[in-house]
Amino acid sequence: MPRAILAYHSHHVVGAGYEANDHVALARDLEVLTDAGWRIVPLAGIVRAHGEGARERQVALTFDDGPVYDVEDVDHPRFGTQRGFLNTMRAFAARRPDAQPALHATSFVIASPEARLAMEAHADPRYTWLAPGSMGEAWWSPAIDTGMIAIANHSWDHLHPALPAVRHSRDARGDFAQVTSVADADAQIRDAAAYLARATAGRAAPYFAYPYGHHNAFLARDYLPALGEAVCAAAFTCEPRPVAPDDSRFLLPRLVCGADWRSPDELLARLG
Ligand SMILES: [Zn+2]
Repeated sequence: MPRAILAYHSHHVVGAGYEANDHVALARDLEVLTDAGWRIVPLAGIVRAHGEGARERQVALTFDDGPVYDVEDVDHPRFGTQRGFLNTMRAFAARRPDAQPALHATSFVIASPEARLAMEAHADPRYTWLAPGSMGEAWWSPAIDTGMIAIANHSWDHLHPALPAVRHSRDARGDFAQVTSVADADAQIRDAAAYLARATAGRAAPYFAYPYGHHNAFLARDYLPALGEAVCAAAFTCEPRPVAPDDSRFLLPRLVCGADWRSPDELLARLG
């Protein structure tokens, strides 16, 4: 049976409909996945069982970039109240209490406070909506406390183009595949893991999502495996397909909402 990993962005709120709003999409997808026989499991479950057969169709949920909208409701000036992803999961669990007993998601967050502030200040309105204060970190530990959310590593500063400078020897903004040295990888990945560990009292999950999905052989074959399972047990790309049994644990593919599917039918077709 297949396994798959889905990625949502809670700052993707540029319309009121499914294709323009990941809050609308996630609420719908929880129903659609359940009705189609998919069992939602924690990302850790997919990683642990990787390479082994599955008795059921398993899907894990991931959220990228770490706006507070992953967990909190927010009022959008044009599109009204957006229910935070966590509250959408809770509402589903209340409505269909036995349907998804392992309902859980992993939020990949950005470590650097300066990077988060810059992303907030320079959000691209064609794709993202980030109000002032939306990229804080105060929600990380309380989210872990709920038992429904894990916090994991999405790099130090995402090599984000909005920053005046990024932590990279050649200032490789917007291209994570240029992280090809131990020094640059330590700055982007190991230091971010250490920051997350401090911010969550050691409870961050040992997973890494490549910014933009950009990866390379140095990171996937050499650097990440050498960090050890406590720091990085698996890494995730944006290759739009379900997980294959022979995928490297450091190149596990994810389908991205809004990019790889724009309707429930497209999602089910992508999942096969
Ligand atoms: Zn990202």
